Amino acid sequence: MDAQQLLALDNAHVWHPYSAIGVAQSIFPVASANGVYLKLVDGRELIDGMSSWWSAIHGYNHPEMNRALQAQIEKMSHVMFGGLTHEPAVMLASRLIELTPVPLQTVFFADSGSVAVEVAMKMAIQYWHAKGSPAKQRFLTLRNGYHGDTFGAMSVCDPVSGMHSLFSDVLTEQYFVDAPACQFGGMSGDEGIARLKQRLERHVDNIAAIILEPIVQATGGMSFYSADYLRRVRTLCDEHEVLLICDEIATGFGRTGKMFACEHADISPDIMCVGKALTGGYLSLAATLTTENISATIREGEPGLFMHGPTFMANPLACSAALASLKLLTDSNWPLNIARIEAGLEKGLSPCRALSVVANVRVLGGIGVVELNHRVDMEVVQPLFVEQGVWVRPFGKLVYLMPPYVISDHELAELTAAVGRVVESVSA
Ligand SMILES: *Cc1c(COP(=O)(O)O)cnc(C)c1O
Repeated sequence: MDAQQLLALDNAHVWHPYSAIGVAQSIFPVASANGVYLKLVDGRELIDGMSSWWSAIHGYNHPEMNRALQAQIEKMSHVMFGGLTHEPAVMLASRLIELTPVPLQTVFFADSGSVAVEVAMKMAIQYWHAKGSPAKQRFLTLRNGYHGDTFGAMSVCDPVSGMHSLFSDVLTEQYFVDAPACQFGGMSGDEGIARLKQRLERHVDNIAAIILEPIVQATGGMSFYSADYLRRVRTLCDEHEVLLICDEIATGFGRTGKMFACEHADISPDIMCVGKALTGGYLSLAATLTTENISATIREGEPGLFMHGPTFMANPLACSAALASLKLLTDSNWPLNIARIEAGLEKGLSPCRALSVVANVRVLGGIGVVELNHRVDMEVVQPLFVEQGVWVRPFGKLVYLMPPYVISDHELAELTAAVGRVVESVSA
């Protein structure tokens, strides 16, 4: 099939994320990917600034990842997880328990991040049901949050960007407070915490858990908030007998400079969701971790079982990819490497601060953000990035980078310089 035919069929029949069918949009067919490069069918090679939405942390076509998957394919690609188990799942669960904060001791494998969030919410509800507080079924969360696209997850996404009004008849109404205004590196203001506390106290009888993205609100605005705020949320949860769910799906596995973002605040959640980078971007897999206390309470309540079990639960290929990815990560000096990327992003993006169209430039770990003072026109900007030889996909006012960890200093300099040129061109 030539590129023209492929694009015509794609346009007529294939949904893309947040897209419409039959609308002309710039879309680029990829032939292959290797290291930090995406190779388009027309032969152009682009430096990947997105890690395929936070996931491809070791880049593409990694020989060790490939070897692990090939070896697993020869054994079995999939078996059901009801009544059966296998080494990749058990080893991955053990590894996740070692890597995450100590109280997290059990692992539920889910097929995507959104499902891991659904599972976390169901765990919290079943926990309180078992404890004799069946009214605790609602969630308190922060505005500008993003937790996925399924109904439960959508109910705790930002009400505006999550289009709550469109789905209002079918979405559970949750409790929202303003996103923290305090910056990463600073202290939490008392005001934001006071509002959260007030909301918590008022509705505590109905609240099962606070759910939030620790430190980085990703899809909802790429903002970095104070570790002190997160610490104080943890304290409030303990004082008011409400669980804390940390959605580490975007932040997990080193991206913010800690293995998990909650470590910036030295706290541990009661339930943690991981996904995205878990398999190094090879396959869809996510997990929900929880404590002994929660799993035991669910066991002792009605119906004595946790009520969830997807068909492709703990897929052996995905678990093998995750094990290989975690080995690559933890065998490397990843904190030093993320610090190197952080320095490269800071150096490369800081000239953008001088541009009139730029409202803010911020960097944390392997995340670099150039916030403009108006929305970018994707149809204009996306082809400009491709012409510059980079793959960057902005949204709203945000041009952001989260490159694969294997990016070299030179490639990082090229990537950030391309961002500077495109941002400058839209300023003019
Ligand atoms: C991407 C994301 C999700 C949803 O994960 P999917 O795999 O796309 O379903 C949930 N929470 C956060 C914080 C995310 O970044």
